[in-house]
Amino acid sequence: MITDSFGRLHDYLRISLTDNCNFRCFYCMPEEEYDFTPASRLMQTHEILELAKIFVAQGVKKIRLTGGEPLVRKDAAQIITALGELPVELVITTNGTRIAELLPSLIQAGIKNINISLDTLQPEKFLLITRRDLFHQVRSNIELLLQHKIGVKINMVVMKGLNDGEISDFIEWTRHNPIQIRFIEFMPFSGNKWTSNKMCSLEEILSIIAKDFTVIPVSGEPNDTAKRFMIPGHEGSFAIISTMTAPFCSTCNRMRLTADGKLKNCLFSDGETDLLTALRNQEDVLPLIRASIWDKKKELGGQLGTHFEQLDADTINNRSMITIGG
Ligand code: SAM
Ligand code: SF4
Repeated sequence: MITDSFGRLHDYLRISLTDNCNFRCFYCMPEEEYDFTPASRLMQTHEILELAKIFVAQGVKKIRLTGGEPLVRKDAAQIITALGELPVELVITTNGTRIAELLPSLIQAGIKNINISLDTLQPEKFLLITRRDLFHQVRSNIELLLQHKIGVKINMVVMKGLNDGEISDFIEWTRHNPIQIRFIEFMPFSGNKWTSNKMCSLEEILSIIAKDFTVIPVSGEPNDTAKRFMIPGHEGSFAIISTMTAPFCSTCNRMRLTADGKLKNCLFSDGETDLLTALRNQEDVLPLIRASIWDKKKELGGQLGTHFEQLDADTINNRSMITIGG
């Protein structure tokens, strides 16, 4: 078992497969020209598997593949197949562009749930946010997953003045579709143009939805990061991830492995532990994992208070989201 000094059990590992991506979402990438990490410095397939096995032996029950865009990695299918053999729930967060090509591997690996990021239902706005004209491809891949009875959660980062006017359209989408929309509070990372007035809070999102729909809270799982809700008569549901205004740190069970093999004990931690170099030097990585998690701060990496109105994103000492693995 892996625990921190506050007694939180850590049994959920998020593995970033790459910091590369075929999208350019402005809220995720650094402002300046960004050089993706060369392949030799990324964890190789066998290294990912070796590290994952160490975590699983310590009680990890769930692994999420993320990135960057995890499915642009050339050996994504092999990695998914190999991790699918482990006794864990394997899930993925993806921008949804490469689902069709990888569907056989996803099914073979027993993947039951996929989170797809989609911040708008309008093709022109999609292009503005991602700088790629692939809206229809993502939408048809979502349909493909539903046809194959794979659970779909849609991640929508809500940004004032950009897509907050579409919240009710996303809710309308859940009327006849068994999808869960996850509205995410916009989070600050260095260089991502975050300002507190662009952030739409849990309370604001709920009050927008409550204008048009009857909202019923649903009790969640113990380590849920999302507050869940349903709307009577809707096949799907929605949830809100309120990292900024109502963080869920007290029940956090997450560890993050970056694509270059560094362990981060929190999305907002300013430190990281190099597991890949230790693995390549044939050192025992378990004591490093334990020490890293033991040092985890109580809340938001010890860097962000909940008085986000005064927060300056550029004073936060952290990687950009694309290099952490969201
Ligand atoms: N490329 C994949 C995707 O877009 O789903 C996986 C990686 S992405 C970094 C993971 C999630 O983080 C996405 O749902 C994305 O919308 C979210 N994300 C990125 N930057 C964010 C930010 N500044 N605030 C809130 N969520 C963010
Ligand atoms: Fe790529 Fe996902 Fe970041 Fe968009 S949110 S740039 S798709 S990693």
